Amino acid sequence: MMYCKNLDLESWPKGEISQGWVHIVNDGIASPIQVPILVARGLEDGPTLGLTAAVHGNELNGILVIQKLFSALNPKQLKGNIVGVLVMNVPGVLQGTRAFNDKVDLNRIAPGHPKGTMSDVYIHRLLERVVYKFDYLIDLHTASFGRRNSYYIRADMSDSITSRMAKLQAPDLILNNPPSGSSVRGCAAAQGIKSITIELRDPNLFQYSVIDDAVTGIQNVCYDLGLLAGEVNCQLEEVTLCSDSFWCYTDEGGILEVQPQILDLLDEGQRIATVRSIFGQITKEFYAPATGIVIGKSVSPINQTGSRILHLGLEPSLIPCDL
Ligand SMILES: [Zn+2]
Repeated sequence: MMYCKNLDLESWPKGEISQGWVHIVNDGIASPIQVPILVARGLEDGPTLGLTAAVHGNELNGILVIQKLFSALNPKQLKGNIVGVLVMNVPGVLQGTRAFNDKVDLNRIAPGHPKGTMSDVYIHRLLERVVYKFDYLIDLHTASFGRRNSYYIRADMSDSITSRMAKLQAPDLILNNPPSGSSVRGCAAAQGIKSITIELRDPNLFQYSVIDDAVTGIQNVCYDLGLLAGEVNCQLEEVTLCSDSFWCYTDEGGILEVQPQILDLLDEGQRIATVRSIFGQITKEFYAPATGIVIGKSVSPINQTGSRILHLGLEPSLIPCDL
């Protein structure tokens, strides 16, 4: 077992898979909070691909994606390095919460600050000590509590490398989404790290089908980057691309039912949700504000005014999944 305060890949053994812990901060009784990592170093040099899971503490599918990817990996055949951060937000996973243990969303305040709040310091050190060592990043997420997602990719489709990394996942859908500065992906991209986000369906679960799909997709990226010798396994000839997206919100509180299913195509004006009073009467209906496709949706009936209804992908079109 390796222990360190900074991921210095040169000090990890070549031709092996190693397990280790990177010390990020101390908790309130001076006990270390460490992130668990898997490191595969090839015998030959090459790029470093980083995988990060559970920056939102209730988004668990990515943990098993990393475990399965490494269990199928022969490091002696690797040219370069693969690093899997199994848990980015350790307090969040232990509490079962999306946020860090000061209630702040780590993926909204990155890159944090070395002398900031608890979450600021944590995300700042995690990026500096681990994530910024990567050449490529795949950040693994799911929907949030009370919502469901398709298996979709967020990527800058104007960039030929991130566009290719996205298509190699053979997802339900790709959302063109240039990285935002306050997310882990955004900070990594600002450092020149080619980065995509994979959204692996639903929170608080291990969902084996989408986990297997993501392992295949990440293996495809490894083949494509020359990290591993192998054939890309992508059955898709075409994939749905959305140019943009937004969430629809309620402006009426009450019991919410969202009618469309994930990946349904919606016409502008089509009914998308019904709100009922606690006595059961319909008090409001909501309609699609634009034509699009359902990327994600709320499945939580208790809707205070201003809750989310569904995540609408705009201008869905089939593009060739040419690789
Ligand atoms: Zn997330």
